[in-house]
Amino acid sequence: MKQSLVNLLPPATLAAILAFWAFAPAEWVDLPWMLPVVGLATLAFVQGLELLFERHPGWRINRRELATDLFYVALSYTVIGYAADALIHSPLRALKEQWGIATPWLADMPFLVQAMAVLFTFELGQYWMHRAMHDWTPLWLTHAPHHHVTQLNAAKGFVGNPVELLLISIGVTALLDVDKNALFASFMVGGAIATYAHANVRADPPIWYGFFFTTIRNHSLHHTATSYEDTRCNYGNSVIFWDRLFGTYRDGESALVGQDDRKRLSIREQWLFPLRPWLEKRKAGAGAG
Ligand SMILES: [Zn+2]
Ligand SMILES: [Zn+2]
Repeated sequence: MKQSLVNLLPPATLAAILAFWAFAPAEWVDLPWMLPVVGLATLAFVQGLELLFERHPGWRINRRELATDLFYVALSYTVIGYAADALIHSPLRALKEQWGIATPWLADMPFLVQAMAVLFTFELGQYWMHRAMHDWTPLWLTHAPHHHVTQLNAAKGFVGNPVELLLISIGVTALLDVDKNALFASFMVGGAIATYAHANVRADPPIWYGFFFTTIRNHSLHHTATSYEDTRCNYGNSVIFWDRLFGTYRDGESALVGQDDRKRLSIREQWLFPLRPWLEKRKAGAGAG
């Protein structure tokens, strides 16, 4: 396939997802498995593209990486998903009811406006949460495992300490009144952008796409192994527009990703990472005693 066509794959995927939800009949939208099936199909599609249009040979998927990635995808779709609903979204929906918070004007907007309003609102929260994670050590300890990945692949956006995964689920979108189709479209579009932004796919989307949405080029720079300081840019998980607005946007790309000595962490190490300072202190104390 010609490179110019490969570059159109991310926007074409977004267009397909938007069209699917724009025209999906209500009975489809109400099927409980529809959202995970569309989400996982998109993920599998982009993972497949890595095999056809590789960006960096050093990021090539292997069994160990794929097994870890799939573990986190399963975790996110089950435990993290349920926990986020029970701890964040359900209480917000109750609050919305109790306080009579309503945005009926939003539900009257065109489908695309609703979907983008939800995406940009959710991503504004994500932006500040992610930026805080790079600015405050206790939060960084939960986010660092995501930066310790030593290669980028379609499902790497799911990889991280479970506390971080829950923290980045925080959002106020449960307070908004929107059409269910538009809500699902915003989830799926945000997910697809973040998937491409982590994928080892040689697609560099058109300028307009990269103006609003995060690309692998700019997100790989956020994962750079050159120094911790160099990671403090391009925080937008799928909406890079917020970085442009708040002055943290940086153009560039990094093929070498990871943190510190670029040692790959096991799942156990990823889960214990926030306790590291305490564990090291204890170990040092034991050594001295
Ligand atoms: Zn980060
Ligand atoms: Zn990332």
